[in-house]
Amino acid sequence: MKFAITSKGDSKSDQLKARIIQYLEDFELVYDKEQPDLVISVGGDGTFLEAFHTYNHRLKETAFIGVHTGHLGFYADWLPRDIEKLVIGIAKSQFEVVEYPLLDIKIYPQDGSEVNHFLALNEGSVKTTEGSVVLDVNIKGEHFERFRGDGLCISTPSGSTAYNKALGGGIIHPSLESIQITEMASINNRVFRTIGSPLILPKHHVCELKPIHDDRSFLITIDHNTRTYTNVSSIECRVADEKIRFARFHSFPFWKRVHDSFISDER
Ligand code: NAD
Repeated sequence: MKFAITSKGDSKSDQLKARIIQYLEDFELVYDKEQPDLVISVGGDGTFLEAFHTYNHRLKETAFIGVHTGHLGFYADWLPRDIEKLVIGIAKSQFEVVEYPLLDIKIYPQDGSEVNHFLALNEGSVKTTEGSVVLDVNIKGEHFERFRGDGLCISTPSGSTAYNKALGGGIIHPSLESIQITEMASINNRVFRTIGSPLILPKHHVCELKPIHDDRSFLITIDHNTRTYTNVSSIECRVADEKIRFARFHSFPFWKRVHDSFISDER
């Protein structure tokens, strides 16, 4: 089996990365940064998101594991002290794979030039530095509402515990193939009206965001990466056909992870 390791880049993560490489090479596994079967991210959830975006062109072939060197992460859920157990699991056993849904986002420019196409593990969000975000929200080809406010967040089930949760969205089990749209400070009065509640869309229900003003620029964040886009014709969001595959060596159910991350990790 071929493996790659990504590190947060601090000395603790780099040292742990070197140890894992040494251990796995002692078991005659091959370090291959280009075409790994397994990617181990060492650091935090941010490091894991980076690893996902580095290898998201080969999701069918690559499985992911996260080791945390700071506090317990949502994706980075292995403790450094359990690293020997993890290495033996990788070297000696066929690992189980657990798949989680992803978000597919396409950003269409007004001039018909190349579409920007992304997969997100946590979410995509749309904001602006030029006053309020104003856009039409269409769902399954039908106009749903005209949104005015700070922005919108469209999240995956596994991302529902991240930015989405801070915006008042619900936590969704990743076995539900869905995306969730949450509002950021919508303007609601006698003139302007939005639904005000998070919306959960199933697979194949496409959400299209169409800016009202042609000349506005938008800050669009995909997980941890933000870029400015001008001349946006529309932004299309749906449950992706692709999924992320996690290599599982022990059971760590989603609700237990939610409990340990947000309630208490004391047994
Ligand atoms: P960061 O360093 O600002 O970390 C954000 C925090 O989010 C970290 O504590 C991380 O462990 C946690 N996190 C990431 N994914 C999570 C998930 N799926 N479930 C629960 N917690 C999760 O930024 P980063 O490390 O580059 O991560 C980017 C992520 O930060 C974005 O995808 C977004 O979801 C999240 N974020 C959260 C808020 C908020 O809660 N108000 C605001 C902006 C971004």
